[in-house]
Amino acid sequence: MLAMRSGCCPDPVDSPEGAWHLIRTLQFKTAVDEDGNHLSSGVERDVPWVAIAPVVAAIRVLERIVPEGELLFCSDYHRGTERHRGKALGGDGIREGLTDFITWANQEAARHGLTHEVIPADPAGALTSVRFRRTLAWHIARQPGGLVALALQYGHLRTVLDTDVAGGYGTRSRRGIHDLIGIETALSTAETAADLHERYSHGEGVSGPAARQALHQASTVRRFEGTTVKADFARKYLARDGTVLYDNPHALLLCRYKRDLALCERLTDSAMPALDRCVAGCGNAVRTDLHAQQLRARADSFVRRALHHPQPIADRLLTATGRLRGLADDHDRTRVTCQEPHA
Ligand code: SF4
Repeated sequence: MLAMRSGCCPDPVDSPEGAWHLIRTLQFKTAVDEDGNHLSSGVERDVPWVAIAPVVAAIRVLERIVPEGELLFCSDYHRGTERHRGKALGGDGIREGLTDFITWANQEAARHGLTHEVIPADPAGALTSVRFRRTLAWHIARQPGGLVALALQYGHLRTVLDTDVAGGYGTRSRRGIHDLIGIETALSTAETAADLHERYSHGEGVSGPAARQALHQASTVRRFEGTTVKADFARKYLARDGTVLYDNPHALLLCRYKRDLALCERLTDSAMPALDRCVAGCGNAVRTDLHAQQLRARADSFVRRALHHPQPIADRLLTATGRLRGLADDHDRTRVTCQEPHA
């Protein structure tokens, strides 16, 4: 990212690549010449990044700060240290930038009276780029397609990490964010399974075609508190087909991912579910009483929203409402509890 230059993300023109904004920049770790010698100046990445709207907007802002063709994060135009003059920001400059961003975000939160959105002071000191990446990975693993804008991009990428193309991304940066996302995903699936076990043990009802297998997995799940999880281990842990339990807050269900049953990834060879493309009626779905409550709450919010929308949109919202309530009713009809185990 630090190698990105002004002009690296031109507006798309009509082309076979479609209307996507593509970012072209350099890669360094695997840059070698034809004899296999490392090229410290880097080479252009074979696969450009596809940029979503907030990323394009951020690049446009940076392009107004630096001259044409210059590094977007050139120290001379940001608050970099003397020793990085003429080069991209170093660790100190990035840390200062993150601190400034937090200050600005908190000022905006205060200005708009959004005290719950204030970023609290960090007891571990100023945020570094390493810890910032870990925080991003935490959100991306737990909010697929969710709160963090990048989650949209990485949430999708995460689902294809095991394909050939994305495997290339992963191997290029062994300590990169993809490894961190893998680690955080493994941890979050373990937390999901432990949470299911606890809910079921305390009398909560569970339903769905994969409920029995999910409960079995949840009762034997490995716990990671206090241990360091490495990227290789996380990869193997997540590759256990049919035994990993993902939380899918958008579809309001748990996904016990078994590849040959997955309706979301019929056409790919991914070892992970496409949580952002969950398909109703999938044999991997599991729901708890909490999900049924959330389905009804979402239905109620759709009814409220329908009052403020024109007829066609209101009709669509009300149709979705019926579907959500139907799913909650199905759960109530078929739920099992630990007091009345499966047949
Ligand atoms: S479609 Fe099935 S496999 Fe895919 S996310 Fe939904 S429940 Fe999981």
